Amino acid sequence: MDVVSEPPAPRAAAQPRPGHRVSAEIDLAALRGNVRALRERAAGAELMAVVKADAYGHGMVPCARAARQAGAGWLGTATPEEALALRAAGDRGRLLCWLWTPGGPWREAIEADVDVSASAPWALREITEAARACGRTARVHLKIDTGLGRNGCAPADWEALTAAAREAEAEGTVRVTGLWSHFACADEPGHPSVAAQLAAFRDALAAAARAGLDPEVRHIANSPATLTLPEAHFDLVRTGVSVYGLSPSPEVGVPEDFGLRPVMTLRARLALVKHVPAGHGVSYGHHYTTPGDTTLALVPAGYADGIPRHASGTGPVLVAGKWRTAAGRVAMDQFVVDLGGDTAAEGDEAVLFGPGDAGEPTAEDWARAVGTIGYEIVTRVGARVPRVHLNADA
Ligand SMILES: *Cc1c(COP(=O)(O)O)cnc(C)c1O
Repeated sequence: MDVVSEPPAPRAAAQPRPGHRVSAEIDLAALRGNVRALRERAAGAELMAVVKADAYGHGMVPCARAARQAGAGWLGTATPEEALALRAAGDRGRLLCWLWTPGGPWREAIEADVDVSASAPWALREITEAARACGRTARVHLKIDTGLGRNGCAPADWEALTAAAREAEAEGTVRVTGLWSHFACADEPGHPSVAAQLAAFRDALAAAARAGLDPEVRHIANSPATLTLPEAHFDLVRTGVSVYGLSPSPEVGVPEDFGLRPVMTLRARLALVKHVPAGHGVSYGHHYTTPGDTTLALVPAGYADGIPRHASGTGPVLVAGKWRTAAGRVAMDQFVVDLGGDTAAEGDEAVLFGPGDAGEPTAEDWARAVGTIGYEIVTRVGARVPRVHLNADA
């Protein structure tokens, strides 16, 4: 048998740099694989990688770049500031941002070739004024509220909004490139609101066509709809959490069901290991007391780093080969685990969550432990935690 020397394991680079108290390792190869898996699943549509909120905590610019490498034709952000930051970092592809307030940086966005969104006449007015001021045609996506009850134009006002947009098109200040909406319950497969929203969206598209609008892309699907509802794909799917390898909810499935792999691994290095006697209170409030002689290990990450305080007594972490549980309160900068009879040394690794295939918990495990969703676990990882991007080169 030939002996082939292995290339250095990527894991070697994955260790926190010496001195890194805690770090979030971001596997961009996994992200690219997720984008490819999603593109296959929505083969008839284009893919928008949603990179709002610092790419759900993963680092916006490197993640955007990796998503483009894997064929994301569109990027999506919530705020115009996020979109402009992508342009400043050199991104030149199609890019939509949708969360606007009066007086927002419309002109900067139009001049930067960002597609903007309007849910109401005031927004369309500000867009046309900005477009006139800079002598450009603004690319606009009109958003209809098909039932979410959040952003989007009320169906009763849709006719007026589409008519105004058509007038602006005739004037040359606007081109309606998109018509779109957002689901309320796509993560609960079979929820009756899903079919109702699809029907309302089709009605809105038909009304817009009667008004003379002919958009490039019609879109309504977020990650759960992309994964489970092909009839919702239309021309473009807007995938966020699935790009980062998380399932939108356990009801939809686990990441492997869809060929997805979690992108973030959150690691820390033990700051202290010590023996204490039975009956020793641990952390603020003494909500944990050692049941016997034991060893405590100090994980130097706390709620300032995005570890939910609700994880006190429940948050799982892999230390010395086993899952441990946060013993007592999670503090601002640190929490403690009880190693029972086991040993560990200062500097040893604690893995809070990751893909799960090296025995560590996942973000979904944390979500379950604290009563939230995986989205919030990764997105809230704090600004104090360095993101270490691996496999940036495709
Ligand atoms: C965040 C967001 C998405 C992405 O949702 P996921 O469930 O993370 O895929 C899509 N569209 C809009 C309008 C959003 O705000």
